[in-house]
Amino acid sequence: MFVARYMDYTIVLTADRTLMSEYGGAIFLGFSACVPRGLIPDSLYFRIFCPPVEANEDGSAVVAPNGTRKIEAALLDYGFRREDVIVAHPEYLDKVIGPKTRVLGITENDPLGIGPATTTFTEIFGGEAYMAIKFREILNHPAVKRYKPKIIVGGAGAWQLRDEDVRRNLGIDTVVIGEGEKVVGPLFEKAINGEDLPGVVYGEVVEEDKIPVIRGATIDGIIEVARGCGRGCDFCEPTLQRFRCLPIDHILKEVEVNLRAGRQPLLHAEDILRYKARGLEINKQAVIDLFRKVKNYPGVKSVGISHFALASVVSAPDLVEEISSILNLSGVNWLSGQTGIETGSPRIMDIHMRGKCKPYSPNDWPDIVVRAFEILNKNNWVPCATLILGLPGEEEKDVELTISLISRLRPFKSIIVPLFFVSMGGLKDKTKSFTLNDLTPKHAELIFKCWKHNFEWMGTIFDEWSGRSIRSRVIRKSLKIIVSYGIKQAMKYMDICEKEYGYDLKAMIKDFRSGNIKVGEPLPIRILKPIMR
Ligand code: SF4
Repeated sequence: MFVARYMDYTIVLTADRTLMSEYGGAIFLGFSACVPRGLIPDSLYFRIFCPPVEANEDGSAVVAPNGTRKIEAALLDYGFRREDVIVAHPEYLDKVIGPKTRVLGITENDPLGIGPATTTFTEIFGGEAYMAIKFREILNHPAVKRYKPKIIVGGAGAWQLRDEDVRRNLGIDTVVIGEGEKVVGPLFEKAINGEDLPGVVYGEVVEEDKIPVIRGATIDGIIEVARGCGRGCDFCEPTLQRFRCLPIDHILKEVEVNLRAGRQPLLHAEDILRYKARGLEINKQAVIDLFRKVKNYPGVKSVGISHFALASVVSAPDLVEEISSILNLSGVNWLSGQTGIETGSPRIMDIHMRGKCKPYSPNDWPDIVVRAFEILNKNNWVPCATLILGLPGEEEKDVELTISLISRLRPFKSIIVPLFFVSMGGLKDKTKSFTLNDLTPKHAELIFKCWKHNFEWMGTIFDEWSGRSIRSRVIRKSLKIIVSYGIKQAMKYMDICEKEYGYDLKAMIKDFRSGNIKVGEPLPIRILKPIMR
């Protein structure tokens, strides 16, 4: 008989349930956690889109977010004992939090649901995003309420908790903003000793040789190969960090940790093509070495990437080609990664992100984007790109330029996600975020242009990706039904907005919320019943 071995731990690290999912190997589906609850039934969402990671017998998570793993490693390196620290599965907190527990450390990307992707979805659809709901569920968990450990929150969304009232209302003791590795040891020690904790702790830059090697596997095998960016876009958090690259032997140790848990490596950097770059100058040999060594590591079958920059693609097309050859990309075996287009307007590029187009000039930007997409598709890369609506200083002619850029991208297999501008990074406190109230018919036209582009490509991308990634035929078929249904409904509403409202999306949403527009046929739940049980 299976007997689980549970015990409580002095330090419990975790992350909310939406971060503790591998999204079926499609990391970009993590975007779905930004969608408000209620668009599809919860049971369907958490079973199909966002299934939980596995848990070990002791309640620990088999894989966890990279940030949580870094903090775990930093605490162990600081001197905490292995038996006192656990990276817990969020659905097993009652098993690992007890009288002995002194600190609960939580990793969060978007604790209040006000990040760019979440804001875009919740402004349009209303409601609250899963990520914020699941974060609060941890804070209000019965075991947390009962044993009252000190609560320390860190991660990419920690900036949202800077305000003292917000922290007090949520019952958070400390938020760590920025890199946590150097500060968490003394901070957790204070918490364990019952000393007063500061409300906000700012992390310190960790030199590349001091970044700890993770001890456990990460979500989708994510391995950090570089930290920071250096291109200097004024709205962005990573640009505030100093640019550093991790040495190959460090990276290979983390490949090994992930392979032991059956995870293939996915290399994370803000721009993978600038691994070991000198400033913005690409170091081709270093990037080739990185991919060769990781690909040739015993047990590695495939290598993924998280992000790349379009300007780097255009300045080093031969490097893109070489990587494709190292990874044996061909046919349906393509490489996907996120990248930023942000705008089609050279004027907006000039105001906010001159560094993003370097070594080219803002005037070249639309052509750079088109050329990059051409190179990427030719070499079997599928970009998942973002756009930002409502950057400060944006005028209607800037939106028109972005619309015409999206038209030029139509022939290229890609996904383009338009997001609302959120005041953060260097612009935090200097300007206000873009909301539904600021949305003009031109913005709506741009949003529809992007989603029509995506719908044209989604069928192919989904078929190719699911064919090689989802083993279960039932899940594959169910996902296809949901995706096709979603596309059909969205096309219908875009058509109504275009023809009956002249792209006045604000007015249409108002009518929708007051019940003046009838909601379409419900999702054919009947067909999905076997997987919802
Ligand atoms: S290029 Fe991307 S990661 Fe770098 S600063 Fe600009 S938006 Fe941030």
